[in-house]
Amino acid sequence: MPTSIDHFIAGKPAANTSGRTQDVTNPATGAVTGKVGLANADQVSAAVAAAQAAFPAWADTPPIRRARVMFKFLQLLNEHKDELAHMITAEHGKVFTDAQGEVSRGIDIVEFACGIPQLLKGDYTDQVSTGIDNWTLRQPLGVVAGITPFNFPVMVPMWMFPVAIAAGNTFILKPSPTDPTPSLRIAELLKEAGLPDGVFNVVQGDKAAVDALLEHPDVKAISFVGSTPIANYIYETGARHGKRVQALGGAKNHMVVMPDADIDQTVDALIGAGYGSAGERCMAISVAVLVGDVADKIIPKLIERTKTLQVLNGENLAAEMGPIVTRAAHERITGYIDLGEKEGAKLLVDGRKFDGNQAGEGCGDGFWMGGTLFDHVTPEMRIYKEEIFGPVLSCVRVANFKDAIDLVNAHEFGNGVSCFTRDGNVAREFSRRIQVGMVGINVPIPVPMAWHGFGGWKRSLFGDMHAYGEEGVRFYTKQKSVMQRWPESIGKGAEFVMPTAK
Ligand code: NAD
Repeated sequence: MPTSIDHFIAGKPAANTSGRTQDVTNPATGAVTGKVGLANADQVSAAVAAAQAAFPAWADTPPIRRARVMFKFLQLLNEHKDELAHMITAEHGKVFTDAQGEVSRGIDIVEFACGIPQLLKGDYTDQVSTGIDNWTLRQPLGVVAGITPFNFPVMVPMWMFPVAIAAGNTFILKPSPTDPTPSLRIAELLKEAGLPDGVFNVVQGDKAAVDALLEHPDVKAISFVGSTPIANYIYETGARHGKRVQALGGAKNHMVVMPDADIDQTVDALIGAGYGSAGERCMAISVAVLVGDVADKIIPKLIERTKTLQVLNGENLAAEMGPIVTRAAHERITGYIDLGEKEGAKLLVDGRKFDGNQAGEGCGDGFWMGGTLFDHVTPEMRIYKEEIFGPVLSCVRVANFKDAIDLVNAHEFGNGVSCFTRDGNVAREFSRRIQVGMVGINVPIPVPMAWHGFGGWKRSLFGDMHAYGEEGVRFYTKQKSVMQRWPESIGKGAEFVMPTAK
């Protein structure tokens, strides 16, 4: 029997009342394991009301006490890390060790949020004019919402709510309906950590729930992570309704391989970053830009390694890659491989031929494919331009470093990029000239650490501020400036000229 996966509002589970549900599947087996409730506007309103009611007391709680709840939550997360990782593997399909890594990267942000007293410390200037002081403080916004994608059901929500809550806001999470279960476990752990009811709420759902959040006057800010068309929609609609919005979108991440790069290290990096999590990472490398004669050295090794990828049930500790998240995603990716052939790219390894029965017992009906490798991909092809979001690595050959930079800079996305080289000057020029938000030098997936902030450029991010880090704190707070003086320093008479420092 599939389990019901519903909402968490005002500190307790809430049954779905809309009458609409969506199947949740285990991608390894294709079995329907749950039915997730899809909230309607009334249930979203109930969650917003709970969050709004909890806001005044939570905002007034001293930051050090909010931090103590985060410390307790951190301890519980560490105790329940594997439980959360198994939940991820069961609904997303990614291999268990990768899921553990996802939870760990989420935990990093909770650790960052534990430092909120220091992060909220304002600036103070004594004596801006005789007898007058001026200081700035940052105050929470109110009810804020996070709308998250399927590919990191624990980590991406944790890019948002630990910082938002620690800063004194109350939060509504609208997770992806594809893998909704971890969100409810997170809500329980937050409650166990001592978070007051209503400070963190979960509303499961689809477009109806998202639109209700976007339109609700009491929701002050929206953080979104997902595909670019939806990010664009969220940004425009949220802004039209007077909200602060950060909307992180899709990607097409390149790895530039210079002729002096260490070939074996580069092959390892491309295979891990291209096929890890079945390429369903916004920072996955989907394009290898092979400069000069490096292609001849690297392609044979890439072919061999792609063919020998360990594509297995994610619970098998020998697995390097698990299944594709849904049947629909499997069809979309297969369609792109068909298209690449039609467009004239050279198909070196064909992942469509992979049979799920090879992945383990009971996997015959799962959403399986192997790694796919294309060579001679060119910038006009749709398989180059569009985000495939699957285990498909495209090799583009360019003559020199300048052409590599121009190619990357011309792409509509600018999330992550990497350059493999031994030349310090090339590395320096690359990081300065590339029009991409997150850059790796001999680092294939340069996801910034918790205190640095995450965000792409161009159509990979709509809004001004990146997720987590100090930008995250700024996003979830508004600055107030206070200027004060006391009667003894106030002169006589009304002043009609613009006050200046005296
Ligand atoms: P998605 O855009 O389909 O869904 C993201 C969220 O938006 C989900 O909660 C979903 O329920 C909701 N949604 C979907 N359609 C909607 C609509 N029409 N109106 C309102 N809300 C809607 O993305 P996904 O398939 O879950 O995730 C994969 C995408 O996310 C990829 O494009 C990937 O690059 C991107 N992503 C980006 C980052 C980043 O940091 N830039 C990180 C992770 C994933």
